Amino acid sequence: MDLFLFAIGYLGLTAFFIGILLFGESPVFRNTPIASLHWFVTQGIFDGLGWIVAKTCGARGARALDSVYLTCCERPNAALQVAYLAMVLGGYWLYWNNLFSLLPNPWADRDHILLGSASVAVSLGLFVFASASDPGTIRAGDADTLAAWHALYPLDNAIWPEKTCSTCGLSRPARSKHCRICNRCVARHDHHCAWINNCVGAANMRHFLAFLVANLAMCAYGAVLACVILGGEMEARGVWRLNLVNYATGRVVPMWRVPSKMLEWLIVLYPVGVAVGLFMGVATLLVAFFLSYQLYLLAVGRTQYEMFRWRDLHHQMLEEAEQQEEQRIAAEREAATREAEAAGKGGGGKQVGSSEKRGGWLSSLWGARRVRVELPKNIYHRGFWRNAAEVLAPEVYLEQEKKKARRAAARAAGAAGAVDAGGSGRREKQGGGGGVGAGGKAQRGSKKTQ
Ligand SMILES: [Zn+2]
Ligand SMILES: [Zn+2]
Repeated sequence: MDLFLFAIGYLGLTAFFIGILLFGESPVFRNTPIASLHWFVTQGIFDGLGWIVAKTCGARGARALDSVYLTCCERPNAALQVAYLAMVLGGYWLYWNNLFSLLPNPWADRDHILLGSASVAVSLGLFVFASASDPGTIRAGDADTLAAWHALYPLDNAIWPEKTCSTCGLSRPARSKHCRICNRCVARHDHHCAWINNCVGAANMRHFLAFLVANLAMCAYGAVLACVILGGEMEARGVWRLNLVNYATGRVVPMWRVPSKMLEWLIVLYPVGVAVGLFMGVATLLVAFFLSYQLYLLAVGRTQYEMFRWRDLHHQMLEEAEQQEEQRIAAEREAATREAEAAGKGGGGKQVGSSEKRGGWLSSLWGARRVRVELPKNIYHRGFWRNAAEVLAPEVYLEQEKKKARRAAARAAGAAGAVDAGGSGRREKQGGGGGVGAGGKAQRGSKKTQ
């Protein structure tokens, strides 16, 4: 049973750690140990390490640490790509030697070797595809595309005010971000993924999601197949029919009723197979968790980066609302005191007491933090299917915006032509009708060209 407890503890800790990383900065956890843990994990450790290095190795050591941090975290870096390849290829090699080699057995036949290998190949293929894909780089020189991004994602003046990228020198469309690591502006920037050493943005979110789905399928299939293969081995060796005898009491129990004994038996005979299966089980949970988060973001029309921006805006609005509330309470208290002074001692005491009740310790500790604010509407959330369509085929919407812009330009040119023709017509003859006619023709003509 100890092993079970260990596995459950391990999974629980992993989930807790991921939860702290993802949600620890949320205003809900402000001034709680969870926020402190988040700070410690994301910054405190590094600050502490920097302090220790600076104290022990001096300025040179601190500079060296800075350059290591810069190389590892602020520049394109293939370390995690190599780690991914090592994990998948190494895992496949271990699986081949310790689990596939047991096939066929009573519970599984050799077809699984082909299927399993295919799932690994698909994952690797999508890994290469996602790593090499363009995330939706915005180039200052491509004015049409830049304008189309602006039209597709206009500024909302809430989390996306007007901004110019100081590095690329372009007016940044809403939802885009300049990635410091890749040194480029990326449309609908989600996050920079160190595993694929690439940004995930408007143009490659679908590749990234496909990569996640393929990895989830590979890990889940590998974990389940490991259970089936090992179960089949037990069948072949007759373990399912074994009985445990307690010599003290004389009680006989079928061995399959005691999972810890079964696991012990498996670990003794197939240690690597069990380890690989467990690893794939944990990987399945992690990938499923991350994929669910990405799908949730898709459903609510936000990117990972926007989650931070919404959170910051929420935080800022809460602070402002709290300040206003405090000012209101202070003003009320002051007014009550003034009234009390005017009315005399007896009645005044009561009034002050009643106003203090509102701003008492409970409200300052709990209630005052419960000021509610309403966030502005997320104008980029256009319903689940439209959000999904923008992720799956962003170029369709981009092209639509380009066409709209071309049509508008042609219409404007047509209208200018009409004004021109009308003016000259009036000058030559009497009526402006010819001019309107010419304008109408030009408009129709421009429509035809689209
Ligand atoms: Zn930029
Ligand atoms: Zn990047």
